[in-house]
Amino acid sequence: MHLYTFASGSSGNCALVTMGSTAVLLDAGISARRITRALAELDLTPDRLSAIVVTHEHADHVAGLAVLTKRCSVPVFASAGTARELARMTPRLEDLLRPFHAGDSFCLGDLALTSFSTPHDAADSVGYTVTDGRRTLGLITDLGCVTENIRAAARTCDTLILESNHDIDRLRLGPYPDWLKRRILSDRGHLCNEAAAALAQEAVEHGTERILLAHLSEKNNTEALARDAAAAALRGTGVSPRLIPRSACAPAVEV
Ligand SMILES: [Zn+2]
Ligand SMILES: [Zn+2]
Repeated sequence: MHLYTFASGSSGNCALVTMGSTAVLLDAGISARRITRALAELDLTPDRLSAIVVTHEHADHVAGLAVLTKRCSVPVFASAGTARELARMTPRLEDLLRPFHAGDSFCLGDLALTSFSTPHDAADSVGYTVTDGRRTLGLITDLGCVTENIRAAARTCDTLILESNHDIDRLRLGPYPDWLKRRILSDRGHLCNEAAAALAQEAVEHGTERILLAHLSEKNNTEALARDAAAAALRGTGVSPRLIPRSACAPAVEV
């Protein structure tokens, strides 16, 4: 199973996971043109996608969805609440939507996905684990706190994409208005570096081999702060955290 990341952060999130001829797009939060270009680099076209799987309806996760699905009729998997929001935003999507209940599992070609609820200020946000039966990838971003089901999912992953959104002091002292600071810091906001580091440590103790830090805030974090927090928590484990580039395609990761 291979993972390709195209973008990560509040200006857009999009990744691709492939196994044999199965290709699943995880979120479509950059323009359809950028997604198409990134797929072309991998000798893929949008109509070759097995499915598009969405975490939630925020623009940084679905901005390219409407245009991308105009040109190809790829099924779009989303939790029931997210699907409702997507259909409200783009009625034409209704035919392509494959709603499921948060917590459900489903198969897409050679891959099996399991969803789990994430605490976030969206209708019905979820994270995913993706497995080829041998190895497992986890996608855990856009969450205000770590719940027991998220912990359980993280422990099963060989490779974990994990939100490390902000440094709490930087956010508190930074330029954001107070209401937005409160929103980000809340249990339905975004995950701080310390909480991400703690979850990374727990996952690695249970066998996770690769930690990919994602969804870093441009204003309230730095790559060094996120990496140092996770590296400190992982000291002695032999695992070094890596960062997913904000707006560039990263080399393939073999999960
Ligand atoms: Zn987001
Ligand atoms: Zn979000």
